[in-house]
Amino acid sequence: MESLFSRIDSKREDLVSFTQDLVRIPTINPPGEDYTRCAEFLGRRLAKSGFSVLYERAKNTPGDTDRYPRKNVIARFEGKSSGACVHFNSHLDVVVPGEGWTVDPFEGIVRDGKVYGRGTCDMKGGLAASVIAMEAILEEGINFSGTIEISGTVDEETGGYGGVAFLAEKGFFSKPRVDHVIIPEPLNVDRICLGHRGVWWAEVETLGRIAHGSMPFLGDSAIRHMSSFLELIEKRLFPALEQKETSMPVVPDGAKRSTLNLQAVHGGEDESFLGMPSPCVPDSCRLTIDRRFLIEENINEVKAEITDLLNELTESRPNFRYRIHDIMEFLPTMTDVDAPVVKAVSASILNISGKNPEYVISPGTYDQKHIARIGHLHDCVAYGPGILDLAHQPDEYIVIDDMITAAKVMAVSTLKLLGVVS
Ligand SMILES: [Zn+2]
Repeated sequence: MESLFSRIDSKREDLVSFTQDLVRIPTINPPGEDYTRCAEFLGRRLAKSGFSVLYERAKNTPGDTDRYPRKNVIARFEGKSSGACVHFNSHLDVVVPGEGWTVDPFEGIVRDGKVYGRGTCDMKGGLAASVIAMEAILEEGINFSGTIEISGTVDEETGGYGGVAFLAEKGFFSKPRVDHVIIPEPLNVDRICLGHRGVWWAEVETLGRIAHGSMPFLGDSAIRHMSSFLELIEKRLFPALEQKETSMPVVPDGAKRSTLNLQAVHGGEDESFLGMPSPCVPDSCRLTIDRRFLIEENINEVKAEITDLLNELTESRPNFRYRIHDIMEFLPTMTDVDAPVVKAVSASILNISGKNPEYVISPGTYDQKHIARIGHLHDCVAYGPGILDLAHQPDEYIVIDDMITAAKVMAVSTLKLLGVVS
């Protein structure tokens, strides 16, 4: 192991410049800027290191156009004989930089042992660490049975439909092709993320009747109907959700409870119009809700909490009418702590940092949902060098020492999973 570790240490410069190069390709999503350039940049590097490289464009998935193709890259290196496959999956897309930066978000500036830039933490630094780790194994000439895969996928920030979901539908995240998956998302270098809470997004629309605004009594205000629904949510649902606590190790603590975000409300006249408003009673009001739920909850009960309140209003409030439709739903997922990938990463962290890792659950979902749901592969964790709290923030950075540590953990975990070391 010592020789592998010193090889990884000696790749520090390469690791930094590779991370910088990735950050300089501004893969902003939406709309999905520069995906092809980034996928091909990663693919060329891995081809040079001996991987066979495949590109998969997710045609006809949300956002895919010839201007913004959803291009994914999958690189595969087969060992001396057949055996298990260890797969590292990273998303290539980043969110918009937003306001508040004190450095150029796409320059990849290095300062005080950190690389700054949009996507350094979430998650190009994690991707770079996994690439360096696997290259170190190959350069060491370590004999192994089985396969190493690295994928760079798109659209994680917008649901992953053109990325991991698309590839999972084609069998890229199922046995026998793949056995163990590590996703280098930023969950802190000494923690292993076993999964995530569930999510349900829906739109609730209340209906009214249009009339002149000077005679609102002749119409029926959809906004007033919505406000009666919001009042019930405030009085009854929020307190009820506060009472639900999970045994899942969700971080941060506030997310150990069920949560509901009232994401958007739109009622009456379209607010994008810049002229004078016209006096009308609103006949429609739409509310988008983002409900995050726990492994102890059943999704039908989660939905019923909302529809029960709506039905109660239908009974009690004159002319109350509503429509509801689902936008998105994913069940909670939590990999067993005794799963091979958890044991391997856990032992590697202990070995390298001398600390027993903390097991955590992410408050929000990430691409593990598609691997579990479509790929039916449950030996999957997120482990990476980024600091969770920095994701999507201005002046996002990655600590170079953490990338080195994570690369060592990834390399040893891989050798354990391939049966090279015990
Ligand atoms: Zn991410």
